[in-house]
Amino acid sequence: MKPLLVTGLQWGDEGKGKFIDFLGKKFDATVRFNGGNNAGHTVVYNKTTLHLSLIPSSILHKKTVLISQAVIINPQFLLKEIKLFKKLKINPKLGIDPRCHIVMPYHQALDSASEEYKGKKKTGSLKLGIGFCYEDRTNRAGIRLIDLINPHQLRKKINAVWNLKQKRITRAYKSKFNLNKETTIKQYQQYGKLLKPYLKNVTDFVNQNINKKSFLFESAQGAYLDFAFGTYPYTVAYHTTSASALTSIGLPPMKINVLGIVKAYTTRVGNGPFPTELTNKINNHLRSIGHEYGTVSKRPRRCGWLDLVLIKQAININGVNSIALTKLDVLSGLKQLKICTHYTLNNKTIRQLPLSFSDTSKLKPQYTTLPGWSKNISQIKKFSHLPKTCQKYINFIGKKIKIPLKYISVGPDRNQTIISLND
Ligand code: GDP
Ligand code: MG
Repeated sequence: MKPLLVTGLQWGDEGKGKFIDFLGKKFDATVRFNGGNNAGHTVVYNKTTLHLSLIPSSILHKKTVLISQAVIINPQFLLKEIKLFKKLKINPKLGIDPRCHIVMPYHQALDSASEEYKGKKKTGSLKLGIGFCYEDRTNRAGIRLIDLINPHQLRKKINAVWNLKQKRITRAYKSKFNLNKETTIKQYQQYGKLLKPYLKNVTDFVNQNINKKSFLFESAQGAYLDFAFGTYPYTVAYHTTSASALTSIGLPPMKINVLGIVKAYTTRVGNGPFPTELTNKINNHLRSIGHEYGTVSKRPRRCGWLDLVLIKQAININGVNSIALTKLDVLSGLKQLKICTHYTLNNKTIRQLPLSFSDTSKLKPQYTTLPGWSKNISQIKKFSHLPKTCQKYINFIGKKIKIPLKYISVGPDRNQTIISLND
């Protein structure tokens, strides 16, 4: 059985968490392969709502859940998630690769100081230190999980970088530095003790079992947050595209199935280009009915119409072979719905998001208008029971993107899922 990778085809928050949970039962193990606690996934099942940022969203099935080395760990967050599961009487079969990098308090301090320094030009970072942790990882100055369980090594590594971080914050960014080195060392040594039982060579485990067990790979964010292929610099600091799962886990090039999660409209958090953004009462409808507020940040998400230019491009770079369309229920009650099929720029047709974003404000999205539906669809279990205009909306998307729409999601709960195509 080929691994199945689940990733978002927009700017994140498409509903990946729901689908990792929905599919998790069928797979022996889930591997989260990127990002940090900047990701927020929500799982809803039987009135239980879980907000997860590090542990894979299939945890409720009590299967093996793994975190591969390109994920960065904030130990405080991770321990909080582990505690939550213990409270729910789920003892996670959790394995974390010892090479995962650790978010240190100075990464968070750098993040805040740099956003403050940029003023109006800030990236819109959550100030969780994720980008700065990735910077150290790439620059070979990072602290890894394996260092936390060796007190001597940890002290040596922190000593090597501390003064430089302090100077960068106080002298370059002209900000305050309130951290204490000795307290930090002690605290992270303690985290090491608590996380030691979960250490596992994820690369070896997956390679040894790739032909014996079924694997689900979980991406943290969506295609346009990828730091190379997304709307750079308004992105995360790493890859979110499907091929990066192989380098994160340590697998050779191989065929994987990719399920792309597409929200029936578009949202993004923070700054950056967004061609189909709405600022009218339809934006308010999408935000309030869709609860479009960040899982981690609680910031209101920007909302707009579905943009098929983005989806098609994301399908290509991710090798998507099936789609789950989510939050269709949120569109109920809107008289007319628009879907962007292409853009124009100075009267020329554009079928790709421009590589440079200087002229995105001049991009004119071109829409096809379709009739809406008023019926509440959130309890519908069969495609044929959906209102005809709703079926038409789904079929229009399917025809344009030429990828099977396998799942239609009509509510946050695991059970609010229409399987429109069987395997
Ligand atoms: P992720 O980051 O892609 O995992 O998505 P998030 O969990 O951050 O955001 C998606 C939100 O929409 C969560 O609150 C989900 O519970 C919710 N959700 C997922 N699918 C649906 C759906 O089909 N309908 C509605 N109304 N909510 C959904
Ligand atoms: Mg999210």
